[in-house]
Amino acid sequence: MIDNKFNLGFFPTPLHKLRKLSKIYPDYTIFIKRDDQTGLASGGNKTRKLEYLIKQALDEGCDTIITAGAQQSNHCRQTAAACALAGLKCHLLLGGIKPEVYDGNLLLSSILGAAIHFTGENRKGEDVEILKKKLENKGRKCFVIPYGGSNFTGAMGFVNAVKEVKEQLIEQKLKIDYIFFASSSGGTQAGLILGKEIYQLQSEFIAINIDKDETKGVSLEEVVENIVQEGLQKLNIDKKIQLSDIYLNRDYDKEGYGIVTNNEINVIKELAKNEGILLDPVYTGRAFYGMLDFLKRKRIPTNTNVLFWHTGGLPALFKYANELK
Ligand SMILES: *Cc1c(COP(=O)(O)O)cnc(C)c1O
Repeated sequence: MIDNKFNLGFFPTPLHKLRKLSKIYPDYTIFIKRDDQTGLASGGNKTRKLEYLIKQALDEGCDTIITAGAQQSNHCRQTAAACALAGLKCHLLLGGIKPEVYDGNLLLSSILGAAIHFTGENRKGEDVEILKKKLENKGRKCFVIPYGGSNFTGAMGFVNAVKEVKEQLIEQKLKIDYIFFASSSGGTQAGLILGKEIYQLQSEFIAINIDKDETKGVSLEEVVENIVQEGLQKLNIDKKIQLSDIYLNRDYDKEGYGIVTNNEINVIKELAKNEGILLDPVYTGRAFYGMLDFLKRKRIPTNTNVLFWHTGGLPALFKYANELK
């Protein structure tokens, strides 16, 4: 099951120490996992999920992919690139109205050849079935990728990512105590949880919630738990995991999805100026702020190794030029 994928990225992505930042926060040693460098049309964590999702679409004989997101969706941009590589037609349903000028991820999705539909208030795929019917009437065979690529198939990308990290930790003779990452549609978190069980990763996950809104009245913890339950069964993992075992930190999501505050702006500049690494304003800026807040307030034991899983998002920076200048 783990090898049942269509190659889209450059793996393993680097795992390395943040030297200057570890000096600024001397109670901790800070590492980073560079999924901003997966290589697919400027990279990001969706590349890992799409390797499994695109394979399934091809196996089912589909010729068209439909997925949805916000206008600055990294998932949609990487899906457009994946479709280009796999020879599939890509339809994107994006929230809001058609802007006069395309920029950031929206511009890239368009360059990458996706057909773009603007869906107003709906940015989580509410209109997918209508479009699917239309395309099917024209003879297309459609494969729908859920919001954020987050179902069991997509999460397999992060099961595999744990295998990758485990190998890197052995090679680098390193133990990571805590792994911080941004969690939003749940696939990354669910895959990491499943991978931890399979590959006996000895790290604790601290998932930072990004989007305070619920999708269809279901909490993100429930979304993650559902994917995890399916995974436990399909991957034959002999372990009980309950909703209360899913840890999601909601301390940093108050402003809502896509709203950039001084918190995100300051850490984007701090990491850029010290390490030459670019975070994004929506996901990794918020999660990195959360991690540094944990370190400053010593919310986790000192003298430990922490890792930030950089999940990408670079193109969205350009959309926030006014806030970041
Ligand atoms: C989608 C995304 C995430 C969140 O991953 P999920 O699997 O949706 O929880 C984090 N960071 C970036 C840059 C993303 O595009």
